[in-house]
Amino acid sequence: MVCIFIFIGKFRCINEERGFHMKYDEKIYRPPLEANTLLLQVTSGCSNNKCTYCNMYKDINFKMEKLDQIEKDLIEAKGFYPNAQRIYLLNGDPFILSANKLRDIAKLIKKHLPEVETITMYASIQSVATKTIEELKELKELGINDLYIGLESGNDEVLEHVKKGYTAKEARVQLQRLNEAGIEFFVMVMYGLAGRGKGLPNAVDTAALLNEVRSKAIFPMSTTLIPGTELHMEYLKGDFEESAEMERIIELKTFIEHLNVKDDTRISSLHASNALTLSGSLPRDKQSFIDGLNDFIEKTDADEFQRSINRNALRL
Ligand code: SF4
Repeated sequence: MVCIFIFIGKFRCINEERGFHMKYDEKIYRPPLEANTLLLQVTSGCSNNKCTYCNMYKDINFKMEKLDQIEKDLIEAKGFYPNAQRIYLLNGDPFILSANKLRDIAKLIKKHLPEVETITMYASIQSVATKTIEELKELKELGINDLYIGLESGNDEVLEHVKKGYTAKEARVQLQRLNEAGIEFFVMVMYGLAGRGKGLPNAVDTAALLNEVRSKAIFPMSTTLIPGTELHMEYLKGDFEESAEMERIIELKTFIEHLNVKDDTRISSLHASNALTLSGSLPRDKQSFIDGLNDFIEKTDADEFQRSINRNALRL
């Protein structure tokens, strides 16, 4: 997940100024695509909280919000957004809640906001694994769909290094189970995560994994080392070398070259971590993405490009 999520500081305070009291933690994150979606807090923090590049929820203990608080928030939301059709559940990993709890929440949503068609949220590979196919199908029936999956990589060495807690094979199996249950999902991948000189196998393995599943969209993001994270500490000690910016573009191009998805899959690298923006869909735009990236690689001075990128501005 991570970098695609945008920090919304002082959200509660702004809401209070508007006479709006729904409960939100001081620090919440939501995907850019959900900028106009009603946000409902059902958990705090992240149940995993181990990924070495992430500090989003490091100081927050994971817990579920009480059902009566969730209902209170829905009753208030109903006053402002009675016709809401989409709702985003906060925070880092709400899909880890049991199918029973998610069912209770989905039913409360339908009770107070009957026009909601899609209940979207972040979901980890581990959170999918905790549910049976029947449970996944039932959750889909209740409107749970468009899950955001922070896959990050399909390369086992990278996954282990950044402590994602699953192998590429386990990730593939769980994404295929979502396909089987009919739950659609968006996948985030991080290029540059393997470190200097290791980007190409990361690109090839990540594309190979995604070729075996049906994703609604793929969001590539360029790795940014965040101070205070384990990965940043490794970098300071000289144990992890950051990829050069041009190396990342070559990794991104290799990833696109190896992606052979059959269905219409949206590709969007609009997140601020990306030096270049790709926006379109595969397989339709594959060749034009590759041509554009090749053109950039051939015509751009790598050193000048390196100097032009200010990753410090992104180190929240
Ligand atoms: S799953 Fe990993 S990347 Fe996502 S919020 Fe939790 S610790 Fe951060």
